[in-house]
Amino acid sequence: MKNKIKSVKGTYDLLPSEIYKWQEVENKLRSIFSLYNFLEIRTPIFEKSKLFSRSVGEFTDIVNKEMYSFLDKGKESLTLRPELTASVVRSYIEHNFQQISSIHKLWYYGPLFRQEKPQSGRYRQFYQFGAEIFGSAYPESDVELIDLAYTIYTKLGLKKWTLYINTLGKKENRNKYIGVLKESMLPYKDQLCKNCKNRFDKNILRLFDCKNRQCKKVMNEHAPLIINHLSVEEKDYFEEVKFILDKLNIKYEVDPTMVRGLDYYTNTIFEVRSENLGSQDALCGGGRYDNLVEDLGGNSTPAVGFAAGMERLLIAMEKEKLFKNESDKLDIFIAPMNENVRKKAIQIVKEIRYSGYSVDMDFQRRSVKAMMREANRKNAKYSIVIGENELQSGEINIKNMDSGKMETVKIDKINDFLST
Ligand code: ATP
Ligand code: MG
Repeated sequence: MKNKIKSVKGTYDLLPSEIYKWQEVENKLRSIFSLYNFLEIRTPIFEKSKLFSRSVGEFTDIVNKEMYSFLDKGKESLTLRPELTASVVRSYIEHNFQQISSIHKLWYYGPLFRQEKPQSGRYRQFYQFGAEIFGSAYPESDVELIDLAYTIYTKLGLKKWTLYINTLGKKENRNKYIGVLKESMLPYKDQLCKNCKNRFDKNILRLFDCKNRQCKKVMNEHAPLIINHLSVEEKDYFEEVKFILDKLNIKYEVDPTMVRGLDYYTNTIFEVRSENLGSQDALCGGGRYDNLVEDLGGNSTPAVGFAAGMERLLIAMEKEKLFKNESDKLDIFIAPMNENVRKKAIQIVKEIRYSGYSVDMDFQRRSVKAMMREANRKNAKYSIVIGENELQSGEINIKNMDSGKMETVKIDKINDFLST
């Protein structure tokens, strides 16, 4: 038996038969980002490991369990990026963005890596697109970003999804609240699952995310909500965000138990969840992170951003049947009948390509019948069989593959024929 090498667990190939869907979505994303005047930024696939431990948070699942980290030959710890905000912030600081302008609106798109348990909608290499606004501490910018995400899902035609928002307050009050939460939940710690017991001291907010029924029940009954522990200023901020969302007719639900997996959020957080995705239902998540730029060594800069998964979006769009069949792309297939005409055929192919039509030809020296089957399989609009007679007369027969209709055209007039 031959020893075949398989792809790595949790990764997948995007085959030509599928990729047109990705390209369609990518194109729409680009055009929406430019409607909102966000500029693209691309950063490296790997970064120094400490970038992520310092930003995402040491006790988060991502940093704790999921990172692909390795020592390079210089014994430096590097990590395949598990998210993109940290990289964008690193770049923002490194290139002194702040000196160029006091506000920046950026978007990104690319693969990320997390070593988690692969399942539907959860991979070890996956794609995210996302956006960040640096330099505004006002609710208008939270809404600009939420509206951007909202518009993306709306314009892509998705129907079955809901936007959820919540607020985590600023760091100081959140830390106070975390103290209150620990105190209130301590008497019930024994009733929680093993995972939650582990998270209790280091990352207690994540108890709200546990899918375990018993944990859910205990949390529902006994956990105080953060909204009741915020300052007037933090509550007002949240009210203003909601007020502007209402003005823009953006539909949302407040989920007072929503927390996010990353440590750096402050005030507003939000998530878009699809009703079509089972338990991996989050399409996108984001929020405000006013301390991160400073935490990573930059000048204090307020910021807000979101990150969205591509695979889940594609699955949801497929479930809602939003993709048409791939449109035909090949204009002409050329079938040379024998050795003598092949060289001339290659020239004709090149000429027509240079005038802007897509052309393919036979590369296997097959029979006319086999070549015509190939033209059909390739969905060519026209096919041309070229033989000695055609070369002699300088005229070829162009066959319309849909109607079967043949038309005789001079070889040097093929372009004119195609353009009519
Ligand atoms: P989840 O709740 O699924 O674990 P998360 O809180 O880890 O998500 P973020 O880090 O905020 O998610 O990433 C934003 C989006 O990226 C998610 O809403 C999801 O659409 C997508 N995403 C996250 N992890 C994966 C993964 N392993 N495979 C595919 N998509 C993912
Ligand atoms: Mg996760």
